[in-house]
Amino acid sequence: MNKRKPILLIVSSPSGAGKTTLCHKLLDQFADVRFSVSHTTRTPRPNEVDGTDYYFVAEETFDQMVEDELFIEWAHVHGNRYGTSHAEIRSAFTQGFDLIFDVDYQGANQIMAQYSNAIGVFVLPPSIDELKRRLSSRGTETPASLDRRFKAALDEIAHHEEFDYLLVNDVVEDAYDQLRAILLAERIRKERTVHLAKKLLD
Ligand code: 5GP
Repeated sequence: MNKRKPILLIVSSPSGAGKTTLCHKLLDQFADVRFSVSHTTRTPRPNEVDGTDYYFVAEETFDQMVEDELFIEWAHVHGNRYGTSHAEIRSAFTQGFDLIFDVDYQGANQIMAQYSNAIGVFVLPPSIDELKRRLSSRGTETPASLDRRFKAALDEIAHHEEFDYLLVNDVVEDAYDQLRAILLAERIRKERTVHLAKKLLD
């Protein structure tokens, strides 16, 4: 496990742009990258595991966590609440792994404002038609929640300028290569590697 300052890699996108697949691919390939598990008041989807995908909590538990200031950020998204706990980020700093966040633009902005080593990647769908197709093929949403997610997707896309990288997820393998390239390039940023040159000169 590396002991350098962790990279906080934030991956945001509208629902249906495929960011979850991209994040999972990255987590599969890099043993030293972990997923920041958020808390949410949303009910679990089939196959979602408590403590792995999210910590699924009751409204009252979420309220208490907000009151106790346990979140670095939290937001209302699609009628539910989602939050990133300080504990998730603290563990990355103490254990030295990089952290990948699947949060919306509100969460991304708050994390980037508080951590200079946070990098924001925004994943775009290749087209509106493809976005609609992906949203409906998930099959876990009601028509009303689908409509809400489509409108929210457009709102989310309007925030693309707040991110460092924009990545189009058309062919998933290509988009993954790009996400991987971002991580690898960020790891050798001068700010993180300058000590290697200094050591040579010493
Ligand atoms: P879903 O319900 O589809 O898992 O997630 C809905 C949205 O909530 C996604 O855009 C996801 O990125 C966002 N989200 C998940 N966890 C967090 C979090 O901790 N904070 C914020 N601000 N958004 C989150």
